[in-house]
Amino acid sequence: MAEAYQQTSEKSRLVALLLCLFVGYIGIHRFYAGKNGSGVLYLCTYGLFGIGVLVDLIMILTGSFTDDHGLLIIDWEGTEGKPASYAPAHPHPAYTQTPPRPVPPPPQKNAEEMFCNSCGSIVKKDETFCRNCGAVLQH
Ligand SMILES: [Zn+2]
Repeated sequence: MAEAYQQTSEKSRLVALLLCLFVGYIGIHRFYAGKNGSGVLYLCTYGLFGIGVLVDLIMILTGSFTDDHGLLIIDWEGTEGKPASYAPAHPHPAYTQTPPRPVPPPPQKNAEEMFCNSCGSIVKKDETFCRNCGAVLQH
């Protein structure tokens, strides 16, 4: 399956085209593609006296221009810096879940109530025995 995948350059074909059009006579598009050696040559010869620039322009337009790794520059926007796959815009489901309900406050005893000394449950002060554990309430 690896042979079926055509690896292409991450350089932008549009940038290479524009550079070739406007500053191709000094080889800027070749520097952009990483071809520094031929870029210097273009710089010294005004793009091989214009012929090299014209050839490169045609090659970029036809999608046969390559970078210094021999990879075709055919992606118009370029893939440099792009993630391998587009991540979904919505956040992880864990962050979208509603927060857990707040813990209800502990029961508040009022003036007529007291805590059982035996089990700690709230009982009425006028009761003799705890309704929960049956212990005798200490008043
Ligand atoms: Zn009790």
